[in-house]
Amino acid sequence: MSTPVPASSSTVILTGDRPTGPLHLGHFVGSLRNRVAYQHEYRQFIMLADAQALTDNMDDTDKVKRNVIEVALDYLAVGIDPALSTLLIQSQIPELAELTFYYLNLVTVARLERNPTVKEEIRLRGFERDIPAGFLTYPASQAADISGFKAQLVPVGEDQIPMIEQTNEIVRRFNRMAGREVLLEAQALVPALGRLPGIDGKAKMSKSMGNTINLGATADEVRAAVKKVYTDPLHLRVQDPGHLEGNVAFIYLDAFDPDQAGLAELKARYVQGGVGDSVVKARLEGCLQDLLEPIRTRRAQFAQDRGYVMQLLKEGTAKARAIVTATVDEVREVLGLRYF
Ligand code: ATP
Ligand code: MG
Repeated sequence: MSTPVPASSSTVILTGDRPTGPLHLGHFVGSLRNRVAYQHEYRQFIMLADAQALTDNMDDTDKVKRNVIEVALDYLAVGIDPALSTLLIQSQIPELAELTFYYLNLVTVARLERNPTVKEEIRLRGFERDIPAGFLTYPASQAADISGFKAQLVPVGEDQIPMIEQTNEIVRRFNRMAGREVLLEAQALVPALGRLPGIDGKAKMSKSMGNTINLGATADEVRAAVKKVYTDPLHLRVQDPGHLEGNVAFIYLDAFDPDQAGLAELKARYVQGGVGDSVVKARLEGCLQDLLEPIRTRRAQFAQDRGYVMQLLKEGTAKARAIVTATVDEVREVLGLRYF
């Protein structure tokens, strides 16, 4: 965690993901573990950001729609408890779009273009100059999501820190205009571990890079993925000394092995030479199967009653909408947008 957390049970958390595909171990490390823990302490809203997902998926809107329930199932499977956390669908709260519309006047195009996360994503997607305007401006939409709930805590992966900074800039500008604290600044809750690399050794496990282990992966898929996990290209023979740096098998063990003392001992032997990658991978596979098996089982249980899951989303969205509507009323008041 980056900074101390305000200790109040009325503190609101807003968090969520774009439903563009199944959630994976990167999400688990980056935010899901925190969300499962924090739901006991704070009021947590978890948003399925389907409208935001459209900013780079207008050619496949059906994918976004399909994945709303899939991602909701992933949340329930990892232990998000609907009695403690409220699940909601972004597009069904039009007041969030309204808030975004106003916030777009509190941020410049140059500032949006400087946002390092947006910059990197534009590069990854190869948009160059053909950037959808909605994509470039999505930080304003994220600011609307966070401030619409008056959230003060946002559990996210480290790549999202620039989004929270930009949100806070908008919040401060708005409050200055208002002459009082209408909106609240938010704090990112980032896990100590940083971002999880992909099985291919690339810096980030990511849906669009096809280097994930999904939370709903079958036992066979987990086995096959572990076989492919990038290790140490210099470690050719068992007796050779191995390297830990950039070795994804060990990075995953750091993240998921419950026996960290045993792991430290294995690392020492690996570095000396004499431990084959197959030994490391067998240990990793064991850890991942143990982690994912109960998640898979719970997912299958919830998946049997998709009607129930949709009902949860409907009720959660209605509850969330009332909160955002109250914020938008205050914002309109400040902007003088009240006539009748
Ligand atoms: P896409 O390819 O559609 O961008 P993604 O797999 O990169 O998908 P995002 O939807 O961009 O996932 O990420 C959602 C949230 O999960 C963010 O808070 C992000 O920081 C976190 N996250 C995603 N991947 C990782 C990772 N590999 N390590 C840590 N956190 C991650
Ligand atoms: Mg991403």
